[in-house]
Amino acid sequence: MPTTEETLLRLAGIPNLTLSTHTPLARYTRFGIGGPADLYAETCSPDAFAAAIGTARDTAMPVMVIGGGTNLIVSDLGFRGLVLRYRADRLSAAGAHVVAGAGAVLQDLVDFANARGLKGLETLAGIPGWVGAAVYGNAGAYGHSISERVVSVEFFDGERVRSFDNQECEFAYRESIFKRHKEWIIFSTGLALTPDDAAVLEKISADILKIRNEKFPPTMKCAGSIFKNFLLRDLPAGVAAQVPATVVREGKIPAAWFLEQVGSKGARRGDIQVATYHANLIYNDGAGTARDLCALIADLKDRVRERFGIEVEEEVQYVG
Ligand SMILES: Cc1cc2nc3c(=O)[nH]c(=O)nc-3n(C[C@H](O)[C@H](O)[C@H](O)COP(=O)(O)OP(=O)(O)OC[C@H]3O[C@@H](n4cnc5c(N)ncnc54)[C@H](O)[C@@H]3O)c2cc1C
Repeated sequence: MPTTEETLLRLAGIPNLTLSTHTPLARYTRFGIGGPADLYAETCSPDAFAAAIGTARDTAMPVMVIGGGTNLIVSDLGFRGLVLRYRADRLSAAGAHVVAGAGAVLQDLVDFANARGLKGLETLAGIPGWVGAAVYGNAGAYGHSISERVVSVEFFDGERVRSFDNQECEFAYRESIFKRHKEWIIFSTGLALTPDDAAVLEKISADILKIRNEKFPPTMKCAGSIFKNFLLRDLPAGVAAQVPATVVREGKIPAAWFLEQVGSKGARRGDIQVATYHANLIYNDGAGTARDLCALIADLKDRVRERFGIEVEEEVQYVG
């Protein structure tokens, strides 16, 4: 079997690929947690990205693609394989049709659309991370998700570049077909927006940003909400009946409600802390480890399972 050194040699021959070894992944995660990747590479070139994936496949090296690292829990031991980032971040508009590279910062896309008076992304203001992962996880907030505006997604399926329309992406709440095909890597997305007043859109985004920055201070080492909210229709009737009507919003019940009932707020393990004001917000309060983070998550899941007989499901993605 080829060694890491052989893979490294082959990757080093790919033009426009920036490469490093033993790269601490804590540097690339908002939690500030994660051991080293054997190999780390990034590029803005679709060809270089495809060549890197091909090389990893030929040498049987495991691959993990990351974006801004805002929704990742990386093991303290790191990742035995190649971590790749696709950084193409071009934004362009033709009328109300916008195309965004997967490596564009989502907030830059929101600002780009707002400034052009294009409605549809303004409520996504302040969601950290990049466009590719936003499509992958169908990111959303304030009653809207990116999928409402996606008309096409260009992705690399390991062999060739393909395009899906909205339906083919099989979007659902924090879901898409890309979550079930982790080897498909999003390169760009096309979005259909609606002409509107730029000042109005910018005000909506600014108001949302203000609220969000209070809830999630920009320096907080976290992943936002750790667990997905529940769709009311998916809950067993006996459990749904226990939830006060005032808690249900747009057909969803916040996971935070269940977590709060089992005493999540303020729970701590090592330097990993659940916010005292938000039962679904866990942050690294210093030198936290993935080991403590995962143990605290498991403990909270157990508590909810025991009390309500339901599974809270992580929104975050694990690496390593
Ligand atoms: C403070 C805070 C608040 C948050 N609030 C919200 C919120 O309101 N709503 C919400 O939806 N999310 C929220 N999140 C979660 C996070 O911002 C989103 O999940 C975001 O889309 C992750 O983007 P990223 O680039 O950081 O992805 P990463 O964390 O780097 O990766 C996440 C996943 O996407 C995959 N991925 C990355 N790039 C690609 C690609 N090009 N093609 C295919 N797969 C890819 C990775 O393999 C990984 O599985 C919040 C996070 C934080 C820290």
